[in-house]
Amino acid sequence: MSEKSIRWFCPTCNDFVSILKTEALKSSVEHAKRLPYPIIIKHGNPIHYTILQLDIELRDRGTLTTMDFFDLVNPQEETSSTFLKSDIRKKLEEISENISGIQRKLWNLLEE
Ligand SMILES: [Zn+2]
Repeated sequence: MSEKSIRWFCPTCNDFVSILKTEALKSSVEHAKRLPYPIIIKHGNPIHYTILQLDIELRDRGTLTTMDFFDLVNPQEETSSTFLKSDIRKKLEEISENISGIQRKLWNLLEE
């Protein structure tokens, strides 16, 4: 385990992606009941998912990539496209809050 990160080629990104070999990950793999140990990495734009299957040395023993994610805990955020939409919605809400803050400050200045 000399490398500090796990690197793989993602066909959706059409690029190399990497994650750090954290102590938590090492521990998960060491205590896994079965190997290879699968982990899911959410990344990219649009968001997609890579499943890495790690051996005891944290080497990738088989990679899968998908755009589809089904969240039964938060069913309204079922797919990657709705994740993207909710991210955009959050950003728009932030921007609109900032604009209202600026408007309030301007009104306060004009009233002085
Ligand atoms: Zn990717």
